[in-house]
Amino acid sequence: MTARILVVDDVPANVKLLEARLLAEYFEVLTATNGRDALDICEGGRIDVVLLDVMMPDMDGFEVCRRLKSDSATAHIPVVMVTALDQTVDRVRGLEVGADDFLTKPVNDLQLMTRVKSLVRLKTLTDELRMRASTTRNIGIEELLKKRDISVDAPIRVLLIDDRPSSIEQIEKYLRGICTLDVIPDPQTGLFEAAEHSYECILLSTALGGHDPLRLCAQLRTLDRTRFIPIMLIAGPDENQRLARALELGINDYVTRPVDRQELIARLRTQVKRKRYNDQLRSSVTQTIEMAVTDGLTGLHNRRYLDSHLASLAGKARMRQKPLSLLITDIDRFKSINDLHGHDAGDDILREFAMRLRQSVRGFDLACRYGGEEFVIVMPDTEPALAEKVAERIRREIERNPFPVGNGDKRLDITISVGVASLKGEPDTVEAMMKRADIALYEAKNAGRNRVVASAA
Ligand code: GH3
Ligand code: MG
Ligand code: MG
Repeated sequence: MTARILVVDDVPANVKLLEARLLAEYFEVLTATNGRDALDICEGGRIDVVLLDVMMPDMDGFEVCRRLKSDSATAHIPVVMVTALDQTVDRVRGLEVGADDFLTKPVNDLQLMTRVKSLVRLKTLTDELRMRASTTRNIGIEELLKKRDISVDAPIRVLLIDDRPSSIEQIEKYLRGICTLDVIPDPQTGLFEAAEHSYECILLSTALGGHDPLRLCAQLRTLDRTRFIPIMLIAGPDENQRLARALELGINDYVTRPVDRQELIARLRTQVKRKRYNDQLRSSVTQTIEMAVTDGLTGLHNRRYLDSHLASLAGKARMRQKPLSLLITDIDRFKSINDLHGHDAGDDILREFAMRLRQSVRGFDLACRYGGEEFVIVMPDTEPALAEKVAERIRREIERNPFPVGNGDKRLDITISVGVASLKGEPDTVEAMMKRADIALYEAKNAGRNRVVASAA
């Protein structure tokens, strides 16, 4: 993992010290000795994490952090406050100005790497989501990003995996009123529960009698349903090696015993806040992708979706040596329906038609609005003769049941023409199959409409 880290401290010796350690881990390092320069660098360049000294003349670290977080160009850059004293007030103030994490001087090497790597990993994820969101379509994403202050007021659901009563009792006491806490002593049951319920953080004790906590970390990171849940370890004071391994496996953070209540809460909140932000981003990305392949009027898949999926359906059919057929339907004289009854009535008919199509095909058939009043149905595992029967059944149903328009007091007689084609052995292609269906449809129109023609070719 490589990333660009900005180190900000007014004492050059401190800057050098952190720089050397980060360089040793192959991070790219930029430095600044005052707040102004730090802000300039963040605005101008691609910075992945800022390590920010609190005590600086002119503009202190809190002010720098506040400014970074209130500017939408820099708000997503994670900031780690480096405090001289292990003071709770500083942590609370840091949280208030939006800091993502804290380190205490003298900076412990392992802590430095844990925090930095964990933040870089999260930033990479966020950046990727942001990029995907903006390359699909921006709908919904902008409001979301503006709403940087994802709340952690809603109750936090936490799973504690720990088997020592005294430790459990202490964590329960510390987190009372902060989150709803489920406790499970057995790691395998814990894994099962984590996959079943939507926890927002997993607290995992490293002192599990007879169990390797790292194995559980690895399993949690492998399962789809638990991959994105933050994991925080509660470790003993002499477990640096284990923590370093856990970090490689993708844990997000840790606290050491004896656990400091303020620190536990601050770190927990930070993890949950970030998870909520990324969850929202992720669902927004999914939504925009769905919108891009869905037809707005009918809710069916659109042509773009068909184009990208037909080839893979054909590939599967070939591989399994199964037939594949498709229909192109086109509403007859649709233009005159618009002309006579209005465009809204035309829309009603398209919606109703899409609904009837959806009801008359099987779950694994693919129904799409191909454009205008043309629809395509792709039918895997379907021989040409059966496809023709399906087409005829749909045609008859449309002809027999007039379409309601407007508020339902008017019903219009509608007919469709259908072209049918099937995939042949190589060198046949999906494009050629579509073309054959199109020609068959054209023949149906020429022969007087309201009929099905199967491609003879
Ligand atoms: P044919 O029997 O030869 O298919 O005649 P047609 O009138 O159906 O065919 P044509 O392709 O000439 O006209 C299609 C019409 O479909 C023209 C267009 O205004 C209408 N149309 C396309 N998309 C929509 C839509 O989303 N809503 C409405 N109301 N009409 C649409
Ligand atoms: Mg047409
Ligand atoms: Mg038509």
